[in-house]
Amino acid sequence: MALEIHILDYGDIELETSFLVLGHECGRVRRVRTYGFLILGGPWPVVVDTGYRDNAIMESLGMRGLQFHDNMIEQQLAKHGVKLGDVRYVLHTHLHIDHAGKDDHFPMNTTVVINRRELECSVSGLMHPQYPKPDIQHLIERLHTQDALRFMDLELTGAEEIFPGLWCEPAHAHTEGSMNVIVDTGDGLACICGDVIYNFNDQIVNQVRQTQYMEPQVTGNHAGSKRGEKAAIKKLLMNFKYLLPVHDEPALIEHGRVVGRLGRRVPGPVAQTVSNRDWFPV
Ligand SMILES: [Zn+2]
Repeated sequence: MALEIHILDYGDIELETSFLVLGHECGRVRRVRTYGFLILGGPWPVVVDTGYRDNAIMESLGMRGLQFHDNMIEQQLAKHGVKLGDVRYVLHTHLHIDHAGKDDHFPMNTTVVINRRELECSVSGLMHPQYPKPDIQHLIERLHTQDALRFMDLELTGAEEIFPGLWCEPAHAHTEGSMNVIVDTGDGLACICGDVIYNFNDQIVNQVRQTQYMEPQVTGNHAGSKRGEKAAIKKLLMNFKYLLPVHDEPALIEHGRVVGRLGRRVPGPVAQTVSNRDWFPV
């Protein structure tokens, strides 16, 4: 089955650059995307990540949200003829403030899929402000509602399928419970990798402040070990043709290297876009 991935644009965030790349350009503000993904071509529409609740909530992290009317999840889905109630599953790469903010827009019979470890982390207090109260409270509501939540145990199972051609694997980076979403596009495997990679250019293509050959640069995130983070990035580069993080444009990968990038506005599904001019070489 050839599945299509469409990009949903939930609005940008302004944050400090060193948050993205460890120790890089401290004090300098950078503007990044916040994407979600709509997977079509399977038995039901599936959404991966839902963006941040509203602009005000980003201030709790000292960041600025730039979410406008066109970025509303309803508007983004409507561009593809999809309504909230049509979506069978909402999958979460993880539950940080900018990834699970709109789950309460979906009806309770849309099942939200989370790696169980991630929900545990969200209530552990360890990264407290990054898991805001209204988002997590809604997920607890789902926990007590029939079929509203589905847990994965990816550390133990290794991979779990949603339907043929779509499955989840543990990310082993960014947060303890992060998961990658793998999509068979019929033209190679695509991996929606959440925040395991923030920025292709600074971390992988130009590897800022890095002297070793083909050594990925790490993010400013500190939930796990830096060795683990590098390994998780290398694993992505070795195993997938397309990498789709949430805060940067998708990349085309060959032999562990970034060889193409997709323009900001994506006109069609990833599988159909590969050979046209929207991919530009690095
Ligand atoms: Zn994020």
